[in-house]
Order: sequence, then structure tokens, then C-alpha cells
Amino acid sequence: MNFLDDSIVKGHVVNDRLVAEGEKVFYKTYNRFPVVFDRGEGVYLYDKGDNPYLDFGAGISVVGLGYSNTLLKRTMEAQIEKGLLHTSNLFYNEPAIEAGEKLLAASQMDKVFFTNSGTEAIEGALKIARRYQYNKGKAGCEIIAMQGSFHGRSIGAVSVTGKDHYREPFAPLLPGVKFATYNDLDSVKALINENTGAIILETIQGEGGIYPAEESFLKGIRALCDAHDLLLILDEVQCGMGRSGFMFAWQEYGVKPDVMAVAKALGNGVPIGAFLAAGKAADAMKPGDHGSTYGGNPFVCAVAATVLDIFKEAKIPDHAREMGEILYKELEEVQKEFPDLVVDHRGKGLIQGLEFSDRIKASDIVKEALLTQHMVLIGAEHNTIRFVPPLIIEKYQIQDMKERLTAAMKALQKETH
Ligand SMILES: *Cc1c(COP(=O)(O)O)cnc(C)c1O
Repeated sequence: MNFLDDSIVKGHVVNDRLVAEGEKVFYKTYNRFPVVFDRGEGVYLYDKGDNPYLDFGAGISVVGLGYSNTLLKRTMEAQIEKGLLHTSNLFYNEPAIEAGEKLLAASQMDKVFFTNSGTEAIEGALKIARRYQYNKGKAGCEIIAMQGSFHGRSIGAVSVTGKDHYREPFAPLLPGVKFATYNDLDSVKALINENTGAIILETIQGEGGIYPAEESFLKGIRALCDAHDLLLILDEVQCGMGRSGFMFAWQEYGVKPDVMAVAKALGNGVPIGAFLAAGKAADAMKPGDHGSTYGGNPFVCAVAATVLDIFKEAKIPDHAREMGEILYKELEEVQKEFPDLVVDHRGKGLIQGLEFSDRIKASDIVKEALLTQHMVLIGAEHNTIRFVPPLIIEKYQIQDMKERLTAAMKALQKETH
């Protein structure tokens, strides 16, 4: 990139040139918005013209501690200064041990395996399930997953994702996966047979439209798993790491999984995920059963260890719970103000959703908010907008969000009249 060139043209010209270049180079699996972000600070993103955008998406629930966190920057600099970003898993490294100890302490799980993404955490979780049942003489066990779920994009993760449009073009997928209805315990019971080995679900469905598990449902599933010796796999990739107002969403219900997948906010933007296992699941896989070249490298683990420190010191989940209550009230008001447009409001903590009626498209609101209100929102299934801001969001920023949201809705309302 030519510095002189950039300094004499306006930000939007640079923006448009980059968007056009991006269209040329990227394999087209996304419809991106025509905005190029250049830097971040707190809960604001800045485009190439240095215009601030209020961020209620956090890079899809990733940047929990916001942008430009000083402690995280110092951590990254220090690890770079050591010159050690990667060692492979043939050796031990101190940041990974530290991150592992902190993650186990926060979750009360027994063992951790670091991955590079949420999808890979799900892959590992599924392999634990198959291996655990195989050890008991039940090879090729069936897995019960949920309709409307999202678990990632690899073939294994897509196999347990309950949405046809993610699945159909890539069939045949993993055999032995059956789908129950989320929050309908009888539908789960009806699928259990002597070959069942595990049940996998998100504690709060994210992409599917922000549906929290009901307490009786989650407790019922735990009881079914105990009764039939099935592994309970909870996907906390999106709803975990403080977002629900608890470090992990299941902690509010007191329902502990056998295996848990985390990622997204664990690295605050550096790519890291993990699967964790407890009790009987914690030694199901043996040396040689699973691996990753990058997984748990000292760079990403140094960041994750600091993320976990900050969560603890600054009581981030408590802040998320408090701010979640304010967000809840503000979104209730939006629903009251637009009874024809908003049909439902769901979620908890800083993972909430507004579902819109067929009179307005959530995706149009997202676009309007981005381009004219300079606010980042993200859509979800069921004509829903999800609100997943950085967890460090403050009350006045939530109120600001509501003003920008309602301005975008009014602008669209006018257009359609
Ligand atoms: C994002 C997400 C994943 C996949 O994570 P990646 O890091 O994109 O691979 C899995 N499960 C849930 C619930 C998610 O929200």
C-alpha cells in the first residue's frame, strides 16, 4: 500500500478501492458489507476515514474486552520480544500451562486441549464422545444434536448443525446424528436408544436466533445423560466467557457438562479455542488420538492467560450481567415503541436478540445501522438482530445504541410507506 497515495485521498476513496480489491481476491463465501475497518479502541471501530462506529457485534462475540486493551497489548509485545510464538506440542510451554490452569479453575473442568477455533473444539468434543463409547465397546455411537443449532463449518461440526442450508450441499455428512427440538425434552428422550453416545447443544443458541436453554430442559438432559451413560457436550463457543453474565452459561443452571467447547472471546481476537473434559470423559482419548500443530502455541496462550486474568480481576461476568439488565430494559422499550415491527425479545446478559415481523428485514436494519448510524449489529436466524457488544460496554453506550437503532428503524419505516 502506497502511503503517499493514501494520505492525499479521502478515506472513502481508499475504502472503495479496498472493497473492490477484496472482491477480486477472496473466495466468495461471504456477502461482506462495504466497510473497511482500520483500528479499534474500547467499544469503537474506526474506518479508513477514521470515522468511529459503535460496536455491538464484537467481531461475532469475540472481542469481549474491547479493542486496544493495554494489558493484552503488553502481553503480546512481551511474547513477541521473547521470539517464541510457536513450539509445537512435542514440548511444553509455560503460557499454555498457565492458560490451561486458569481455564480449568474458571470452569471446574479437569483437562483441556487447545485448538485454533470453535469448530476444532467441537471436532475434539465429538471425538471424545466416540472414543468414550468405543472404550466401553459401543463403536460408532449415535449423537443427538438440536434443530436450529450452529456448531461450526467443518464436516464434523456441520454434521451436528441443525440447519439444512449449512448441510445439504455437503452431504453425505457424518452418519449417526439425530436432531431433537431445542427446549423439548420429550423430543430428546424419543431419540435415545442403545446406540446413543452423546448429546450436544449450545447452552444458549446463538446463530439460531438467541434462544437460551430452559432450566428444566438442561437439567432433564443432564439426567438423561447420567441415566444412559451419555456424554453431555455443551457448546459455549459463543455464549461462554462471561457473555451470559456468568463465566460459562451452564454455571447459572448448575448443570455441568462432561465436555465443553469454548473459543471466540477466549483470545479476544487471537485465534484460540479449547475443549475441556471432566470426570469420566477426561481420559477417554489416548496419546496419538488427537493433535494440532498450532493448537496451544505460546503466543495465543499468553494472550488467553491474560484474558482470563482480566476476567477474574475486573469481574467481567458480573459487569456483563449488570449491563445485560440495562440492555434488557432498553430493548424492551424498543419493542414497546415498535409493536408492529418487533415480535420477540430473547436472551440474557450481553447476548440478546430482537426478532422482527415480516414487515421489516433484520438484515436491512443491520445495513442501515452500519452505513448511516455507524453502528455494528449482527443478524441471526429468524429475522433476528443479536446484540453481542464487547463485555466492557457501559450504560451510556447502551443508550446510544438504542437511539441509533431506533433511528435506523424509523428511516426504514419511512422508506416502506
Ligand atoms: C462461532 C461458533 C462456532 C464455530 O467457531 P469458529 O471459531 O468459527 O470455528 C461453534 N459453535 C458456536 C456456538 C459458535 O457460535
